Amino acid sequence: MSDKLPQRSGQSGADLVIIGGGIFGLWAARKAAQRGLDVLLLDAGRLGSGTSGGLLGALMAHMPDRWNAKKQLQFDGLVSLPFEIAALEAETGLETGYRRTGRLIPLPKPHLRPIAERHEREARLNWHQGAHAFAWSVMDSPAVAGWPVEDYCQAGLVHDTLAARVSPRRLTAAIGQALRDHQRVEIREGVHVLGIDPKRKVIRLADGGSLGFQSLVVAAGCGSFPLLSDLGPALNEPLGRPVKGQAALLRAEIADDLPLLYLDGLYAVPHEGGHVAIGSTSENSFENAFSTDEKLAALIEAARRLAPRLQKAEVVEHWAGLRPRAVGGDPVVGAHPDAPDVFALTGGFKVSFGIGHLLADAVLDMILGVPVALPDSYLLTHHISVAKGE
Ligand SMILES: Cc1cc2nc3c(=O)[nH]c(=O)nc-3n(C[C@H](O)[C@H](O)[C@H](O)COP(=O)(O)OP(=O)(O)OC[C@H]3O[C@@H](n4cnc5c(N)ncnc54)[C@H](O)[C@@H]3O)c2cc1C
Repeated sequence: MSDKLPQRSGQSGADLVIIGGGIFGLWAARKAAQRGLDVLLLDAGRLGSGTSGGLLGALMAHMPDRWNAKKQLQFDGLVSLPFEIAALEAETGLETGYRRTGRLIPLPKPHLRPIAERHEREARLNWHQGAHAFAWSVMDSPAVAGWPVEDYCQAGLVHDTLAARVSPRRLTAAIGQALRDHQRVEIREGVHVLGIDPKRKVIRLADGGSLGFQSLVVAAGCGSFPLLSDLGPALNEPLGRPVKGQAALLRAEIADDLPLLYLDGLYAVPHEGGHVAIGSTSENSFENAFSTDEKLAALIEAARRLAPRLQKAEVVEHWAGLRPRAVGGDPVVGAHPDAPDVFALTGGFKVSFGIGHLLADAVLDMILGVPVALPDSYLLTHHISVAKGE
């Protein structure tokens, strides 16, 4: 037991209980243990078996224009992530498939060129930090023929040198391994949390048991919203909802250091070993969360048109999962106003892998009473106001 937080009798024995072992909960557990806290990490299934066990792994920045605190935070996340990953890989001996390969964005229409050139200037202003500077360069044609096909590059294309990729499964496995090796961390898998009693500081479990906590982080992905929504007075609408996404993994004869391609919501992300991940659909209504269908087939066809060298690539996996999307749109972080020992860490929607480590640090700062500067729209209090209709 660490001496960072006061101990209460009859509790789990941990300073911090975390619900959910997806990318958010995993980073939170790692960072908490690094700060000397004893951690109990619970997951209804296995670590990394939720949406974070997907296959796309695109790490992309917001556009470099109209700079604000949210864009800065995501930029900082993308700049700092490789250092976190290098430490993790050195510690565990496991590779995560991280590489800053950059991104290519075709410009199919002439009017897009001046916009891209404006972004090129804005990236020069905004995309740098110390020795790290990244570019949004407008080019006339692709450096590697056919990646993407020139038909889509009527007005040229953009090369963004900030974007990167990582294997979601390898990254979650590596953090999970580091946690299993850490003496301050206890992991319990197959433990489904049904509810939280903030007054008694107890969580209710599906097996009929209960568990006390001192501080609690709710990082249960889509499962976070019902747990958090029930904590205070009734809300007009839930704090968030699941959005289905489908993706596929192809096996192609291509170099794994090619930049990822992005066009109108379509991603083609080259990974290690000639694998290329294709994503993603965004579905607000669906019957089966985990089935794949013709929408994914259409996406794969669109990717083959954009990059003909994928034409004959074999599809080795179809995958679908649920992204947690908060009612306010942004990630949800921080203490609940009616339950000050319960902290949200969820709702990353499409950008969780680029910022999960930073938001984990932010929530731990809050727990330990260290001042934190996060965009207001990320705070749980903000999302509760939105859900109340205020
Ligand atoms: C098709 C698709 C493509 C995507 N592509 C990208 C991408 O390229 N880049 C990117 O950054 N993001 C991407 N995302 C989004 C990203 O995958 C998610 O935002 C992220 O994985 C969410 O992580 P999480 O930790 O919040 O949730 P999860 O990974 O779902 O983890 C939550 C965990 O909590 C557990 N849990 C849930 N409820 C309970 C409960 N009541 N009790 C105990 N345990 C519970 C679950 O078992 C699970 O393990 C994509 C998502 C999809 C669907």
